[in-house]
Formats: sequence, structure tokens, C-alpha cells
Amino acid sequence: MKSYKVAVLPGDGIGPEVIRQGIKVLDKVSDVYGFKVEYTYADIGGVAIDKTGEPLPSETLSICKSSDAILMGAVGGDKWDGLPLNKRPEAGLLGIRSGLGVFANFRPAKIFAPLKDASPLKDRIIGDGLDILVLRELTGGIYFGERGRTTRDGEPVAYDTMTYKKSEIERIAHLAFQIARTRNNKVTSVDKANILEVSRFWREIVIDVSKQYPDVELNHLYVDNAAMQLVIKPEQFDVIVTGNMFGDILSDEASMLTGSIGMLPSASLDSSGVGLYEPVHGSAPDIAGQNKANPLATILSVAMMLKYSFNMEEESRAIEDAVLKVLEEGFMTLDIATENAKIIGCDEMGDAVASKI
Ligand code: NAD
Repeated sequence: MKSYKVAVLPGDGIGPEVIRQGIKVLDKVSDVYGFKVEYTYADIGGVAIDKTGEPLPSETLSICKSSDAILMGAVGGDKWDGLPLNKRPEAGLLGIRSGLGVFANFRPAKIFAPLKDASPLKDRIIGDGLDILVLRELTGGIYFGERGRTTRDGEPVAYDTMTYKKSEIERIAHLAFQIARTRNNKVTSVDKANILEVSRFWREIVIDVSKQYPDVELNHLYVDNAAMQLVIKPEQFDVIVTGNMFGDILSDEASMLTGSIGMLPSASLDSSGVGLYEPVHGSAPDIAGQNKANPLATILSVAMMLKYSFNMEEESRAIEDAVLKVLEEGFMTLDIATENAKIIGCDEMGDAVASKI
């Protein structure tokens, strides 16, 4: 029986509660489909600071590096807010992303039909649903360029520089085309090629890579137009691939079209397919320990793990279908509850999804 090693990092606040539900569902999927998962738990964030003084202990990073995938909850809380920036729980997040070299960040923006009313665009634009995947380059571009302050013409000046290497663009472009093949075969590359040299270079290389994927449709949009199109006609998109800064902004815009932070999963991958899977939300200290958190973002992150790290398309879809069925039956946590919803807690939501697998 095939076996996978998963590092589990529950973190702080609602992290441990939602992670328990993610594991519950993964256990059920592995039972039904006949594979094994070996879990190794490790600390990150505030809980790690309390135990070791560090938000990302070296042991945690080495456990992650020797795993096939990592499932993380959330970090942070008032208790640690007074610490210096590099000692705060959030430093653990940046540390694990850079420590694992995950260069591709995936944020799906998908609306489940029973939750359509939660979208700020509602039926007017969404029609029968929305299913967009934003693929953001995560370790290059202007966020990692040379920066500084100097004096020019007698006055202070600040600068950041945007640089992309050919290989950095190629690897994210390949990923975009490969992922599009598992979805609706369309890639939209977003840049600012009417102004920026880096964007012209980006576009040239994406076009070059696209020749290896003649079956996938490719189009290009300037980032300002892409931001507008996401609101005017979001259904035109399948996979959006873009650089670090444009992706930062567009992935937030796209995910918020779904209207609910408790539903949003994410994945960050390195070149070998090892991935870090986590809900987009934080540790929600206001509802922690009350069985009120929505675990669906974490459960859907598990679905992404199966698809992207373990190549288990059918098993991944089984989780998404189970989530849809539970929502169709009207079971919802407080944060997504529609008018006639049967409101349930975090634990019960995990049970409900697992029971539908
Ligand atoms: P948050 O995402 O934790 O919470 C924002 C709001 O959404 C709160 O009202 C919360 O109750 C609600 N919410 C979030 N997740 C929910 C869920 N699964 N179910 C139901 N409701 C949910 O953001 P915040 O309040 O700005 O930050 C709280 C802490 O989390 C801070 O310490 C922050 O630094 C940290 N944080 C961590 C991450 C991460 O670990 N990836 C991300 C963002 C914020």
C-alpha cells in the first residue's frame, strides 16, 4: 500500500481545531481509497515560541524537508504581538516558505453554488459559479530585488528593482500550462508589457513555453485590465499566471470574490512537487477554542495536497464533492450561514464532510 509522509503544523488560535478536521477527512479518504498517511506533528508560531523561543525551530523545518507534504493551520495572537518582528509568530510563516523554496503559490477562487449569495458579485456576474486559479510566482520579482535609499538632484530617493531570470519565468509558466491541462485548458498571463521591460521579457518567455502546450489556450492581459476583468467578467478566467507583486494583489481580489475567508485554501509548491498547504485565514483569536471555526478552508487545502503533491485527482475531487454535498444539505458554520442554514460547529463540519466521502 502506498504511503505518504505528511508534516502537520497546527500552530495557534483556531489552527489546531481546523487541522483536526483536515486530518479527520484525510484519514477517511485514505481508508476509502487505500493508501497510508504517516503524520509527524511539529510546532510553528506562538506555540513554538513558548516552547523554544523561536517561531520556526530548526527541528520543524527539518521535519518538513523530509516530508512529502506539509499541512499548516495558522499562527499568531495578542500574546506575542509585542515581540520584535523577527521573533513574532508571523516570522515562522516567512521562514518556512523561504526555507522550503516554494516558488509557486496557488490560490483557487471557487464558489460553491449554495454559497453564491456570499459573493459581492452575486448572481449578476457569477452565473453558475466561479472557479479561477491564481498562480503567483513567490520567490522572485520586485519583492526580492535590490532596494535602497540614496540622494538624487539633492533630494532623498527610495528605489526597488524588479528582476526576473529566464529560468524563474519558465518554471512557473510550465506549471501554469500543466495545471491548466487538469482544469479548463486556458492560461491568462498577466503583466504590464506596455510599460515594463521585465514584463516584455515575461511575455516572450511565456509565449516560448506555450509552444510545448499547443492544446492549452493562452492569452495576455495588462494587470490593470486584469483587475477590472476579474470584477466585470470573472468567468472568462481559468488559470491566471503572474509575477510576485501582481499576483499578491490579484490573488486577494480573486479570492474575495467568493466572499468568505473560511472557505479559501492555498498551496505553495517547489519544483519537486513538495508542497505547503494552508488555509488563507489567520488564527482568528476571537473565536478560538469555541468550536466555531469553519474548517472547510483547511479541508479544501487537503484536497489540493492530494491533487498537487500526490497526483490523486479522483481522491481530491471526492473531498470537494463531499464539501458541496454538506453545503447543499444546508449544514454551515456561522461565518457562511445563509438564511435557512443548519448551523453546526467546527468539529461537526469535519464529521459531516468525512461522512460523505
Ligand atoms: P484572521 O483571518 O485570523 O481573522 C479575520 C476574521 O475572520 C475574524 O473575525 C475571524 O474570526 C474570522 N475568521 C478567520 N478564519 C475563520 C474561520 N476559519 N472560520 C470562521 N471565521 C474565521 O485575521 P486577523 O484577525 O487579522 O489575524 C489574527 C491573527 O492571525 C494575527 O495574529 C495575524 O497576524 C495572524 N494571521 C496569520 C495568518 C497565517 O497564519 N497564515 C494569516 C493572517 C493572519
